[in-house]
Amino acid sequence: MKNIDWKNLSFGYVKTDYNVRCYYRNGEWGKIETSSSEHIPMHMAATCLHYGQEAFEGMKAYRGKDGQVRLFRWEENCKRLERSAEAIMMQPVPMEIFRDACFKVIALNKDYIPPYGTGGSLYIRPLLIGTGAKVGVSPADEYLFIIFVTPVGPYFKEGFKPVKMQLARDYDRAAPLGTGHVKVGGNYAASLRAGVRAHKEGYAATIFADAKTKQYIDEAGPANFFGIKNGKYITPDSHTILPSITNMSLRELAKDVGLVVENRNIPIEELATFEEAGACGTAAVISPIEVIHDRETGKVYQISKNGEPGPWSQKLYNYLTGIQFGEVEDKFNWCTVVPC
Ligand SMILES: *Cc1c(COP(=O)(O)O)cnc(C)c1O
Repeated sequence: MKNIDWKNLSFGYVKTDYNVRCYYRNGEWGKIETSSSEHIPMHMAATCLHYGQEAFEGMKAYRGKDGQVRLFRWEENCKRLERSAEAIMMQPVPMEIFRDACFKVIALNKDYIPPYGTGGSLYIRPLLIGTGAKVGVSPADEYLFIIFVTPVGPYFKEGFKPVKMQLARDYDRAAPLGTGHVKVGGNYAASLRAGVRAHKEGYAATIFADAKTKQYIDEAGPANFFGIKNGKYITPDSHTILPSITNMSLRELAKDVGLVVENRNIPIEELATFEEAGACGTAAVISPIEVIHDRETGKVYQISKNGEPGPWSQKLYNYLTGIQFGEVEDKFNWCTVVPC
């Protein structure tokens, strides 16, 4: 176990001992290599640098109550990386390589997995990039798949607290038939300007409206949006939203605790009717939303009336994190115990 102040870890980069790498060259994937370097030597004409051939994933491994290390739904992350690769014409990573690389990098860095009870976890960042040199716009012939890990603290240090969000229509993170549905770096570049402005103006994130009509709720910054009312868990159905594995899991749990799940367009005005709302993703699981300010109209949608998360959000959060930390029966078989 490393000498780290686990309780005060933030969601940032901490150097670990090893990362793992696998190269696609001459039409085939090579062996998984271990590296202790934080750097990637690369050709200056690599397609990831010029033409955005880059996709990534984000998942977590948790040290459980029983001391075992659990990886949450890695198969889903693998499938999503495959969809991302296909969307921007990169070579997909075979499932065995993805799995072996995950297990290997976790085992090599097991001393960086935060102890049970600190609320921390090991964040796992798979990255796939085009490394082949091209000057004309075309897909690369060579790719690098790399996974690094970094220990992260509990997202909510002062407890599970609602945040303020800003709704904006003057920026889009993804085009209607673009790449919003896959986890590629370009979407993040496109969202930076709105996100930084939101932070500057005092909000946790930007809620984007759908790019085509500007009438519906789309993505909540780097997370999916959901609202709860009248016993229903409602989350947008849109091609420009990244299918969050957290959201997919919350929908299952919502059904399990007796909510009805609706996947449909959410008109912006409907925000006034939600009893609870949140943003969901691997980093925070759920960020409950206190209030949403519409930047253009000045409208205020007060969701949490007492500054606390709603009862359903709390229940879903406890249920999901309970499964991840091995405190609650994993009846959906979502966790893989990692040999380490
Ligand atoms: C990664 C991501 C999410 C969350 O997905 P999870 O699989 O739950 O971590 C949501 N929206 C965007 C835009 C993302 O990139």
